[in-house]
Amino acid sequence: MDTYEKIIGLAKRRGFLWNSFELYGGTAGFYDYGPLGATMKRRIENIWRDIYVIGEGFYEIETPTIGIEPVFVASGHVHGFSDPMIVCSGCDSAFRADHLIEGIVEIPDTLSAPEIKQLIDKHDIKCPQCGEVGMFGDVFDFNLMFKTTIGPGTQRMGYLRPETAQGMFINFDRLFRFYREKLPFGVTQIGKAYRNEISPRQGVIRLREFTQAEAEIFINPRDKSHPRFSTVKNTVIRFYPASHQQNASEGNSGDGDKGIIELTVGDAVDRGIVAHEFLAYHLVMTNLFLTRAGIDPARLRFRQHQPDEMAHYAVDCWDAEVLTDRFGWVEVVGIADRTDYDLSSHAKHSQHDLSAVLEYDTPKQVEQIVVKPDMSLIGPLYKDKAGKVLAALKNLEEDDLSGDKISITVDGEEILIPHDVVEYETVIKEVRGENVVPHVIEPSFGIDRTIYAVLEHSFAEELVDKETRNVLRLPPEVAPVQVAVLPLLTREELINPAAEIVEMLRKSGIFVSYDDTGTIGRRYRRNDEIGTPFSVTIDYDTLDDGTVTIRDRDSMAQVRVQIGELAERINAMMRSGFDSP
Ligand code: AMP
Repeated sequence: MDTYEKIIGLAKRRGFLWNSFELYGGTAGFYDYGPLGATMKRRIENIWRDIYVIGEGFYEIETPTIGIEPVFVASGHVHGFSDPMIVCSGCDSAFRADHLIEGIVEIPDTLSAPEIKQLIDKHDIKCPQCGEVGMFGDVFDFNLMFKTTIGPGTQRMGYLRPETAQGMFINFDRLFRFYREKLPFGVTQIGKAYRNEISPRQGVIRLREFTQAEAEIFINPRDKSHPRFSTVKNTVIRFYPASHQQNASEGNSGDGDKGIIELTVGDAVDRGIVAHEFLAYHLVMTNLFLTRAGIDPARLRFRQHQPDEMAHYAVDCWDAEVLTDRFGWVEVVGIADRTDYDLSSHAKHSQHDLSAVLEYDTPKQVEQIVVKPDMSLIGPLYKDKAGKVLAALKNLEEDDLSGDKISITVDGEEILIPHDVVEYETVIKEVRGENVVPHVIEPSFGIDRTIYAVLEHSFAEELVDKETRNVLRLPPEVAPVQVAVLPLLTREELINPAAEIVEMLRKSGIFVSYDDTGTIGRRYRRNDEIGTPFSVTIDYDTLDDGTVTIRDRDSMAQVRVQIGELAERINAMMRSGFDSP
């Protein structure tokens, strides 16, 4: 059994993750979160909220998971969000064409469909399903969005959103006003995203329905310094810069620490490794979130995109990657400077201005030409078009007035206006600010991959008293059950005080489970395996002196405390570790 099998085995057995639709045979790419998994997921999402919503002040919004077609035309998903697919005519199975040659040949990120097919033929790649060679059809682009129709009758095309981001971009206008028209500001969304992955064979790593937590931070394109950069600049991060990667496809092999450098983010910005402070600040936030959630810092790196891997509009992109036993380095978060691509594209497609006015500290005095058309001449000359001619003339700027005649467009037709029907005047105007299309910094987190990686990184097998103990060393704020209350024996005189202790801890906001089945040793092991940080045991001394033992999951050490102090001690231990005063 490799680590993945052990983790998934544990996750299924103990109620973290279950294959969806199992009763009906199941289907790849979908997982249910069982009672412990759903609780842990909520806790991890709340850490994310603590950092982004509370810590950064980025309000959370909630937008539909179904989107209408124009949104995804503008975002580029309708035409560009596809993976190369190939079908074996021997068994009708479909595959990601590029995955078939991965590891067999070095593939750059930019291979065309016919080039991939050539490589598959040249290397006699077997169908992974039926084993036949030479039965593959052509490689073609398969769009990953799930299509649907909206409403009866009209059959308006809709798509399940492939990311939460678009719901935030298309609300820019309202958000800008909500934030009192000042940059920078950020907004967040946690929710489901859907991608019809071609052949999701990587279990929880590649899902067709998954949860994203995304922040969109709209910033002034002329100022990418971060107001609080000085508070994070000494944080050391494990960088894997583009210049240290031999090729883009190297990214995923389990190549240990090769090419990784540890640097403060301040240095990384000074040395031009990270494009600017704003992006670097969010690398730190990502590092903070992942390590607080339980990712092992030694198995975390920030990999910069290669120039040919990055979207054409992006300035700089980094993926937070975690090392897993079976899949090597896996991307869990993408952090990108997307420039004005999203807002400009939605502005163009929706024909709404999505720019922001940036007010100057003090208004500027600017010379402007005012055009004064002579209506007594324009009226008779242009008759029923005179009104539109007048409006077009009033909109002219200084540059438009050079030349023998003035060119304007009315109803799509060019009209040349002689200079003697207009007068010009130069006036001084006060300009309060300038128009800019904000740039977007986007940290985009995959919650499911994070959960898998946290499970794998916190998992340990230890030999205790000649028996293997499985333990999940989850941080207390991530562990689904915080305290297990265990009467030493199933005797009424111990069960009754145990029930009172459960009640008392629940009232103080601690998530408690009660367990009186099996030997105390078995119950400790069960709780170790689900990551419960503390167990409280009620024994006969409890009846004599009102004390109970708190047992620490990691060290297995125990301390006796008075029942009256229990909730307070547990709360302190959850914050600062076992036995903290
Ligand atoms: P992307 O928009 O592709 O950069 O995705 C952002 C994040 O979403 C990634 O870093 C992953 O953590 C997560 N993600 C993307 N695709 C999937 C998938 N098919 N299954 C699970 N998580 C995914």
